[in-house]
Amino acid sequence: MTVTIPKESIVYAMSPDNAPVKTVKDGDTAVFITYDCFENQILSEQQDFGGLNWERINPATGPVFVEGAEPGDLLVVHIQKIQLADHGVMTTGPDLGVMGKSLDKNTIRMVPVKDGKAIFQDFELPINPMIGVIGNAPADASVPCGTPGQHGGNMDCKRITEGAYLILPVNVPGALFGLGDVHAAMGDGEVGVCGVEIAAEVTVSFKVLKGKQWPAPMVIDAERVIAIASEEDLDGAAESAVYNMAKFLELEFGMDKSESALFLTVAGQLAICQVVDPKKTVRMEIPRWIAEKKGFRWEE
Ligand code: CA
Ligand code: ZN
Repeated sequence: MTVTIPKESIVYAMSPDNAPVKTVKDGDTAVFITYDCFENQILSEQQDFGGLNWERINPATGPVFVEGAEPGDLLVVHIQKIQLADHGVMTTGPDLGVMGKSLDKNTIRMVPVKDGKAIFQDFELPINPMIGVIGNAPADASVPCGTPGQHGGNMDCKRITEGAYLILPVNVPGALFGLGDVHAAMGDGEVGVCGVEIAAEVTVSFKVLKGKQWPAPMVIDAERVIAIASEEDLDGAAESAVYNMAKFLELEFGMDKSESALFLTVAGQLAICQVVDPKKTVRMEIPRWIAEKKGFRWEE
């Protein structure tokens, strides 16, 4: 069965108190219609930045109640399709992003997206559509959608893209899953504070995974197995991403910490997802072919 979640059904925080807007069954498909991260408020490059309603930032469409998902389970979200609107928007300015302290004015840029390219400055950038905000409700806290964490949220990880499986912890009955903040393109780091922010329609399917203690959030794609971690600073996020992957290696392959340190230092790729959100996000990737050689199986 496929259900559609309209863009008017949004939340600004992931919370156990959010009322679900739809219920899906294990195995169902859902289409999430999403605003861009400014809730489509920006219509022109001349728009008054201060005139935006900053309460309406980073909406996530949802949440959806997934039948059968219980605390302690994992929710596997297969991202089947990301269909983009015909243009996106970018902004930066004082106190925003890595260079914010040297910026003296706010800038808005409208970015047409056509035929797989974002028309940008004087060149055409190949798009890499990805989902910035995606997650389940935390167990006992309300976390603004702009903040990433163990529940998911604003991870701004470019591996969360078409074809990928995102694995999230289930913290409350039904998971209360939502997503938003799609980017047509974004580079690792998201240094200027945004990607090409764009409205979208995202098709995902759900599967509840029981009996696994994996250190979610994780991503499995055609090439890689990935652990994602968000912490107050980059050092902490890097450390957590490495430990999370080591945990996965221990659970799946019985690898002890010395072996995983040696393995990850040669076969692991540590990469920055973003450095501009209230917590910073880092991922540790291992090649999927090595995981499979060790006996890891993932049912597509
Ligand atoms: Ca974001
Ligand atoms: Zn965004």
